[in-house]
Amino acid sequence: AYWPASGNLRVENLSARYSADGPRVLHEVSFEVKSGEHVGIVGRTGSGKSSLALSLLRLIITEGQVYYDGIQTDSINLDALRSKVTIIPQAPELLSGTLRENLDPFSEFEVLANDKHAMLNDALRASGLFSLQSEEEQSRITLDSQISSGGGNLSVGQRQIIALARAIARQSKLLILDEATSAIDYETDTVIQRSLREAVSKDTTVLTIAHRLQTIMDADKILVLDSGRVAEFGPPAQL
Ligand code: ATP
Ligand code: MG
Repeated sequence: AYWPASGNLRVENLSARYSADGPRVLHEVSFEVKSGEHVGIVGRTGSGKSSLALSLLRLIITEGQVYYDGIQTDSINLDALRSKVTIIPQAPELLSGTLRENLDPFSEFEVLANDKHAMLNDALRASGLFSLQSEEEQSRITLDSQISSGGGNLSVGQRQIIALARAIARQSKLLILDEATSAIDYETDTVIQRSLREAVSKDTTVLTIAHRLQTIMDADKILVLDSGRVAEFGPPAQL
């Protein structure tokens, strides 16, 4: 059977630490998200937002349970898990090469071959990704356009847009976006949020670690972390 069939996520008493003898950075975090819901995650710096993202992929030491689509992550091969769940980190690394190579390093995605994702192209264009090129060149942006020096000439927000486009192409059922802290500009933020609403499939569950209230006002639920604990979890209107 194809797993995961849905983007259901259930987290039970999840605790985490970075090393065996290190302190806990998450304390018995529990929450449940239904397939297709968009959740905003907020909290002060150091409250454990990025650690939560890493814990969901078991990239740091965890205790407690995480279920995707009803299956406990302990019983899932880590490669399988990490191929199905996408984290867009606060500062994504890019490959030196074409845009296509960055979006689809293993030439897997028909969706890119067909160039169907108008939204994706719009998002990439709107990010100002190619603003170093002349206007005429910009109008001819293709997936074969070159990203120079490993993306070093792109802003962190722009790199996140490329990483997001890759996640959309992979059709991940669970997507975790750790928004760039480095004062992501309003325009980039807007493009990212629009892409998340319009280009991500309806049954994809999206967790956005956000730094602006405005970013999460449209979320179905908001999770507030405080010192590694869930302070609040619910629809924005109820908080
Ligand atoms: P920000 O808004 O600044 O990104 P955050 O909410 O994402 O903050 P985390 O990065 O999850 O916060 O940090 C939670 C705790 O984990 C902090 O006490 C931090 O010092 C600790 N921590 C984060 N990364 C590591 C690491 N690589 N090794 C050890 N401890 C870490
Ligand atoms: Mg963080």
